[in-house]
Amino acid sequence: MKQEEKSNQLKQFFTKKNIAIMSSVAAVCLAVGIAVPISVLLGQTIPASNQPSEISSYFETEPSSEEELEKTESIQSLADNSSQEELPESSEPIQEQPQTTVEQKASMEENTANIQPCTHLYTKNVIPATCSSQGYTVHTCQKCGSSYTDSYVAPRHDYGKYLCIYCDKPDPAMNPYYSLMAWMKKHQSYTNENGEYVWVYNNGNAAYKVTCNNMGSYYMIEYEGEEESLNVRFYNDADFVDSYYHLGAIPGRMLLSKETITIPSSSLFNSYPPEYGDFKYSFSNRLDDTFHVVQTQLLSPLGLNFHMFGFKLL
Ligand SMILES: [Zn+2]
Ligand SMILES: [Zn+2]
Repeated sequence: MKQEEKSNQLKQFFTKKNIAIMSSVAAVCLAVGIAVPISVLLGQTIPASNQPSEISSYFETEPSSEEELEKTESIQSLADNSSQEELPESSEPIQEQPQTTVEQKASMEENTANIQPCTHLYTKNVIPATCSSQGYTVHTCQKCGSSYTDSYVAPRHDYGKYLCIYCDKPDPAMNPYYSLMAWMKKHQSYTNENGEYVWVYNNGNAAYKVTCNNMGSYYMIEYEGEEESLNVRFYNDADFVDSYYHLGAIPGRMLLSKETITIPSSSLFNSYPPEYGDFKYSFSNRLDDTFHVVQTQLLSPLGLNFHMFGFKLL
C-alpha cells in the first residue's frame, strides 16, 4: 500500500504541470546562477567603460609593463586635463621653444660665419719710401682679401757718399762744399779750362754762374751783364769772401766775411770813397741779386742754402 501511495504521490508530483513549472524554475535558477557572476565581473569594468575610447583601447591592448602603465597614466592625466585646452598645447611648445631658439642661434651663427668671422691671416707687403712718396706697409688677409695699411714712413732719400743714389739730391748731413761739388760734377753744364765745374743760369742778357774746383774747396759765384759784372769767391776752409765788381769802367773790390755778411746791406761799403757816388749801392744790390738767384735757382732745389756754406747771416 505504502509503495502504491508513494508512487501515486510521485505521479502527482511529476504531472505535466509540475514538470513545466519545475523546468522553468530550474531554468531561472540556471539563468540567475550564470548571470549574477557575469554581472559582477561586468560591474568591475564599468568605470573603465566611462573613460575615453582611445585611452581605454590603449589601456586594454597594452596594459602589461609598469612603464607603459605610467605612460598610460600620464596620457590619462593629459586626457583628464583635456578640458583645459591650453595646457597640452602650451606644454609642448614650452619644451620645444628652447630647441627652436637654439637652432635659430646656430643657424644665425652659420649665416654670420659665411659673412664675416674670418680669422685673418695677414701677409705684410712693405712699400718703401721713395724720394718723393711716403712708404707704408699693407697687411692683406690671405683668406678674405681684406687689408689695412700702417707704418707710414716719410719720403726719404737713400744717400751714397754725397748724393742720393736715386735722385742725386746732395746729402745735407755732409759738408755742402763737397756734396754740391759732387752734384755739379754730375750735372755740370760744362767744365772750364781749369777743369772746374760750372753751373750756369741764364736770365735775359745776363748770366749767373757757380764754379767750383774738383776738390770742392773753392767756389766762385758770378754775374755777367752787358755793362756790369760781379765775381765773389769763397773757400771751404776760410771765412773771407773776395768780391770783384765792375760797373761800366769803374772797378771795385771788397773783402767780406762769410760770418758777418748781410745782404742787402749797403753799409758794407760805407768805407768806399764818397766820389764813387752810387757805385756802392749798385755793388750791394748786385751782391743781393746774385746770392738770391743762386739760392733760389740752384741751392734751394737741392735742399742747400748759404747758411750751410758758412754765411751765418744769410
Ligand atoms: Zn680675413
Ligand atoms: Zn732722392
